[in-house]
Amino acid sequence: MNQQTIGSWVSSANMESCDFPIENLPYGCFHAVQDPLASKKIGVAIGSHILPLTDLSKLIEIPLHLKNSFQHFDDLKMNEFMAISNHEQVLCREFIKDLLSINSKNQAILEPIIIHQSEVKMHLPCEIPDFTDFYAGIYHATNVGSMLRPEQPLAPNYQWIPVGYHGRSSSIIPSGVNIKRPIGQTRASEGKPPYFQPTRRLDYELELGVFIGKSNEQGVPILVDEAEEHFFGMCILNDWSARDIQAWEAVPLGPFLAKNFATSISPWIVTRHALEPFRKAWLRADNFPQPLSYLNSKNNELFGGIEIHLEIYLQTALMKEKQLPAERIVTSEFSKAAYWSIAQLITHHASNGCNLNAGDLMGTGTLSGPMEQEVGSLLELTRGGKEPIELGQGEKRSFLENGDTVIFKAYCKKDGQVRIGFGECRTTIVG
Ligand code: CA
Repeated sequence: MNQQTIGSWVSSANMESCDFPIENLPYGCFHAVQDPLASKKIGVAIGSHILPLTDLSKLIEIPLHLKNSFQHFDDLKMNEFMAISNHEQVLCREFIKDLLSINSKNQAILEPIIIHQSEVKMHLPCEIPDFTDFYAGIYHATNVGSMLRPEQPLAPNYQWIPVGYHGRSSSIIPSGVNIKRPIGQTRASEGKPPYFQPTRRLDYELELGVFIGKSNEQGVPILVDEAEEHFFGMCILNDWSARDIQAWEAVPLGPFLAKNFATSISPWIVTRHALEPFRKAWLRADNFPQPLSYLNSKNNELFGGIEIHLEIYLQTALMKEKQLPAERIVTSEFSKAAYWSIAQLITHHASNGCNLNAGDLMGTGTLSGPMEQEVGSLLELTRGGKEPIELGQGEKRSFLENGDTVIFKAYCKKDGQVRIGFGECRTTIVG
């Protein structure tokens, strides 16, 4: 039992290593696999279970002031729920917390409707109208830049602009969905003609995703001190990348087919409110310029960071065959890896008047830490494929092979606080 937790009647939520204690309550969308008539529902994860929120109003009395908010769950309109005011979101969260707390008067009614996570299929948590991928990981940008431009690894704009590109939302998939090795155009070396074949340099990118809640009107920028009001929550994100296709196609307009074949996300949105206890300062090192004033504020300096620990696991087909667990190959931490805070990413995105909408997803960029074993892509870990990593069972990897399963995990931990986790983002590559 975790002594610090306020405690839930769902006993698995009170275990110390649990990702989903009552202090977390992330939102997701699921359907029960064993019930042929089951439809999609919105729910919150609690311990190893899910409390369905859709149709909850048929079982218990929803307080009058929360009825409109809960109606969005019944209508399966998660995006509309994400757009409600910060105040209303907090009230809903408190109400759900009460329902699940150890002193809940509703335990007897709710106990029969909670469902074990092993009995559901998870879907994307909301509709994702637009997807942007940033490049906020400064060590990643430096590592990749040094392969391309050893004399000047960081481009001159890097310390001033949160660099990003518009990605593709149609190919975003939830954890558990396999990806097919993409085919594309590449070439063996300079001067040789290109050819068209399955990628030989398939890679992952360890990122976090930021979901937008409240929208802004087109033409109306978001002030840095108001940016967090638009920040609904986060997930883990894997920005799949075909390095050979990328190297050939990316000049001069940047990523295209090397990236847009798939992006995997963990299915639970951990809300900004759940992340609040893990806030930390966001200070710019002395050897870097201070951000321009539209990206700078005292609040951002004091609380702009969130300590989120990240892990990468790899399980090959051979490991599965021998029933061996996935091997952890990398750990990293968001607030050390990222050069720009979430508020700065949101503010910059809207600074030209670009409108962000509820459900929009922003990738942080690859979150490589400063140390060699903290890098968030195989491109970095194997130095462009030149130094394969060694796995147990005598296996080696430069890039990913068919049958490999890549698992990202994330969690927040701090003295005096209950640990919360993001669950996992798990994807297998098929031929
Ligand atoms: Ca990326």
